[in-house]
Amino acid sequence: MSAETMSAETMSAETISAETMSSESLVFFSTGDSFAPWREALAAALPDLAVERHGAVADPARVRYALVWQPPRGFFAAYPNLRLVTNLGAGTDALLGRDDLPAVPVARLSDPEMGRMMAGYVLFAVLRYARDIPLLEAAQRERRWAYRAPREARSVRVGVLGLGELGAAAALELARQGFAVSGWSRTPKALPGVRSVAGDDALPGFLAQTEILVVMLPLTPGTRGLLDAARLALLPAGAKVINVARGPILDEAALLDGLASGRLGGATLDVFATEPLPPDHPLWTAPNVLITPHLASIGLPGSAAPQVADNIRRLRAGRPIRHAVDPARGY
Ligand code: NDP
Repeated sequence: MSAETMSAETMSAETISAETMSSESLVFFSTGDSFAPWREALAAALPDLAVERHGAVADPARVRYALVWQPPRGFFAAYPNLRLVTNLGAGTDALLGRDDLPAVPVARLSDPEMGRMMAGYVLFAVLRYARDIPLLEAAQRERRWAYRAPREARSVRVGVLGLGELGAAAALELARQGFAVSGWSRTPKALPGVRSVAGDDALPGFLAQTEILVVMLPLTPGTRGLLDAARLALLPAGAKVINVARGPILDEAALLDGLASGRLGGATLDVFATEPLPPDHPLWTAPNVLITPHLASIGLPGSAAPQVADNIRRLRAGRPIRHAVDPARGY
């Protein structure tokens, strides 16, 4: 029987028999991701590993690995023999902020498809502003032919805060489109077509020259509230803000003030201090705001499971894991 014609029952029976034989298990928990595709992708990448859902684990003592997104309190205490926790996403703030995290290595997802998806979202949001699409949409509603000569991309100054795995992918995509891209990070980067500046002292100058600001920082004690009223005021008049990182990095009240006064020209927000964004939140109806429900990029089982499996093989072989996060640094 070919793999294509194998029935679902046969496949799940095979998975179960592999599980029974395996001495090690991975426990899965996510508030937003389906178990079945992850289980299939992980079983394909590591056939000798049992993959179990939290709440249906046969023997907690044989659980060595956890793949989790926002697990409930008490989750980790149930698995005394964990050797690795993998965060089912790139942003580890919720995980590292817990006081019950076991003292084992923590890794994040690093998935090339996730980078591509994020770069695509950011490119869409930047192009939308660079090509004045919100103004054209408003004109269409009034049946108005509002011709505006498009600007050359190289004259549009885009600033990307954070040049990590996803931030760098987005900055490079914007550079490929010809935008005048600058990026800010803790340490300097060498990315073709991207002007790199680093460190706190460089931030005011960076903001002052940025027409379209893209926030791609992790949420850490050092970035929480970073974009407060004073820093937003450094942006040129009419600047646009795109936040695809975490809500609490940006002071939402200050953003609302900037939008209401017209000093800020618009915002594209995928993340919020409170998610889901409450129905009565003023951002829903603030002028020139596009809201998306935290979906700029997600980890996909097919492309991310091989990375999770690779780290498990590394641990088994006594080699260092990849994409480890540093709890002290916060990302
Ligand atoms: P990384 O952890 O790979 O990189 C973080 C970047 O931010 C690095 O360049 C780092 O600098 C920089 N940085 C961190 N702290 C500071 C600071 N205090 N000052 C200046 N620079 C700083 O993150 P990713 O690029 O992979 O992802 C960014 C964030 O995107 C995630 O943390 C997550 O919160 C968010 N995210 C959102 C998603 C969505 O759907 N909306 C999906 C996935 C992620 P350096 O390189 O010098 O260390």
